[in-house]
Amino acid sequence: MPTRAVVARARKIRLLVMDVDGVLTDGRMILSERGDELKAFDTHDGVAIALAKRAGLRTAMVTGESSPIAKARGGKLGVDSVVLGARRKREAVEALRAEYNVPANAVAFIGDDLLDIPALQIAGLAVAVADAPPPVKAVAHLVTRARGGHGAVRELVELLLRAQRAWRQVVDAYVREHGGR
Ligand SMILES: [Mg+2]
Repeated sequence: MPTRAVVARARKIRLLVMDVDGVLTDGRMILSERGDELKAFDTHDGVAIALAKRAGLRTAMVTGESSPIAKARGGKLGVDSVVLGARRKREAVEALRAEYNVPANAVAFIGDDLLDIPALQIAGLAVAVADAPPPVKAVAHLVTRARGGHGAVRELVELLLRAQRAWRQVVDAYVREHGGR
């Protein structure tokens, strides 16, 4: 169970910003002889992003890499913004805040490594994945039970929507929309 302080922070979130490598993936990059790169994403995280959008949250991916894979995955999931080549993630988050007109305390950022620390330091809800190194966990309000690429974003979205009392309704609507009742 999240602490009451974390739930209070989660209730205010309007914009969910996600690092890619090590958060939406397990951090491994598979390279072919030709130099082509492959990454593995968790399908449960993909559904979670759909649920977050239904609950009215804005979503963004911010990566220091410039791989087109992140752009493709973000596009497929309907992520509002995909920022590539962001070596200064704090500035990237501030630009997103301005674009979507949300205050600092309405931003959740989930990251896994040192490059994420500047963004975590200004987030209303700073989240580290379970396998993040100690300096990253040290600046986080919340550490997920799940590791990066293994449902960490799913866990965070459920926590956010439960805090906002939107989880049940959004899940029911999703099931109905796909032929259930
Ligand atoms: Mg990362």
